Amino acid sequence: MKKKTVLLTAILLLIAITMEAQEGRDRVTEVQEPVPPVVTPGVGTAPPSDAIVLFDGTDLSNWERMNGEPAQWTVSDGAMTVVPRTGDIQTKQGFGDVQLHIEWRAPAGIRGEGQGRGNSGVFFMGRYEVQVLDSYDNPTYPNGQAASVYKQHIPLVNACSPPGEWQTYDIIFMAPRFKEQGRVTDPARVTVIHNGVLVQNNVEIWGDTKWIGLPTYTKHEDKLPLRLQDHGDLVSFRNIWVREL
Ligand code: MG
Repeated sequence: MKKKTVLLTAILLLIAITMEAQEGRDRVTEVQEPVPPVVTPGVGTAPPSDAIVLFDGTDLSNWERMNGEPAQWTVSDGAMTVVPRTGDIQTKQGFGDVQLHIEWRAPAGIRGEGQGRGNSGVFFMGRYEVQVLDSYDNPTYPNGQAASVYKQHIPLVNACSPPGEWQTYDIIFMAPRFKEQGRVTDPARVTVIHNGVLVQNNVEIWGDTKWIGLPTYTKHEDKLPLRLQDHGDLVSFRNIWVREL
């Protein structure tokens, strides 16, 4: 072999070794497990395949009054509607960390103002409220408007649609963690997307929602029902599902 050929072969060999070594290093950072489970996304308004459907428009079989009696709200045209003074309703099943999808609609005819217009609420674990309110051209205290963490966090923007139109909340809720003795170690956190717009970005919840006074934590179960509020207004809900996280 000529000197030139030997040199060329050596160079090619070196390149090949270097490339292989590079590839090996790439593989070092490839992680093979866990393989994420397959979830079929919902088409249109359908829930994803691993969702727990809480209301599909037909009945209130997954819901009850706070005292355990059957829920009294009405169901028609694929929606449930508050019947004022029949009280809040809650899921029969308890939940901790969840992704929630819920659609709501404030009544079309504008009646009342401020907190008295299309008021309801989504209470995670029966305690932590993301406000439902007709906040379309309806001033109130901002930490009490639609998509606020009631009396705690003002939404980043007001993404409300006009009353009478369906609106969506997509919410990621992380339950609080407590020490044995009852002290909170990890406060609850929540991210809220209202009509496709981020309005709460992983905010820390300060404690139980309170109308008057400051929120505090009281140790509770790991999983508790999701609650919807009867605030006396004819707010409707539809297409409610959760994914446990
Ligand atoms: Mg409310």
